[in-house]
Amino acid sequence: MFLKGNEMPENNIDLAVILGDGVGHDILPVAAEVIKEAAGVCGVEVTPTVYGYGAQRYLEEGSPLPEDVPALVRSLAEKHDAILFGSAGDDPRVPAGINCRDLLVGLRWELDLFVNLRPAPLLDSRFCPLKKEVPIDLVVVRENTEGVNVRMGGNFKKGTTDEVAIQEDVNTYKGVERICRYAFEYARAHGYPKVTMADKHGSLIHAHGLWKRVFWRMNEEFPDVEGEHYFIDTLCMDLVLHPEKFGVIVTNNMYGDILSDLCASLVGGVGVAASGCIHPGRVCMFEPVHGTAPDIALKGIANPFATVLTGRIMLDTLGHTRAAELIWGAVQAAVKENKITGDLGGDLNTKGVGEYLQEKIVELSKEQ
Ligand code: ATP
Repeated sequence: MFLKGNEMPENNIDLAVILGDGVGHDILPVAAEVIKEAAGVCGVEVTPTVYGYGAQRYLEEGSPLPEDVPALVRSLAEKHDAILFGSAGDDPRVPAGINCRDLLVGLRWELDLFVNLRPAPLLDSRFCPLKKEVPIDLVVVRENTEGVNVRMGGNFKKGTTDEVAIQEDVNTYKGVERICRYAFEYARAHGYPKVTMADKHGSLIHAHGLWKRVFWRMNEEFPDVEGEHYFIDTLCMDLVLHPEKFGVIVTNNMYGDILSDLCASLVGGVGVAASGCIHPGRVCMFEPVHGTAPDIALKGIANPFATVLTGRIMLDTLGHTRAAELIWGAVQAAVKENKITGDLGGDLNTKGVGEYLQEKIVELSKEQ
């Protein structure tokens, strides 16, 4: 749905499936089949190519990644239409630091994936930790390439009691404008009536002063979508008290990181939290929010919902709205019928949930 102008979605998707470290090995093969099924019943062929970068590659070949990571990123982007990534982090079977984190970070930066899209819809009130039952449908649009996360700065007199540490907060007009535009476009395309922007411009007068000016200017281009401003601290309180009041929330890299975890925990936590790293019109990367889950990795019991719902974001981003909706319908049905993994209170394993979802997708596609 973020195709520009008259562009039509392609009816085949060459998908790079990067298993990564840990639990990605359990989940990605299962999730890829579910995504393939949803696309397939809509006439879209998904051709996955599986890459085993990470700790497993280290065990088999002696290194987790090829030496030239930027070249690897370029070649993945040239060969594929989209990238589905498992997770990156330390694996207890190999020494610390042997993982595919460099590839994950490389993909985000080298491909200039400036949007980190993290929808957090509540599947069922039993997954919400709040006392009251309210509908929750949040979407955090996090700026993904700027802010304090660019690691500019340094330490002076490091390790002494006179140490000075400086961390720069980089905010550019271009960066703020494109993320605000994406948020308004997303809200318009998905039927959200407003976009909330969170900052702290009362204190961070320069950086967030820019956010404030650009956001309101951008709102003028989207008169059909209401703009709303919140200070980040007030927003955190209100999200817990009245999550039903919010929909699309746009914010900077650091606040987005924190806020999306808050939103994820309002709707069931890491097992269901999906995300996309997006640059409209380019090859994008889609990854679940959770990490490598070393405590349950390689046991076949992990919840595939986060990655399956990540596939929903991918299909939607590539313009395959119906296939994305089928995934959503199947996941909702799984929850209703208790076809879920142990972390959500069910008794199916990863594969069992995947098989249920595939069957449900076929069933739903016949009903529509
Ligand atoms: P990392 O260092 O890679 O981030 P972590 O253990 O610190 O790993 P997560 O991997 O996000 O962070 O795991 C946090 C908790 O959530 C763990 O108890 C893990 O088992 C659980 N968890 C994560 N992903 C899943 C999943 N897909 N299904 C079920 N439980 C999960």
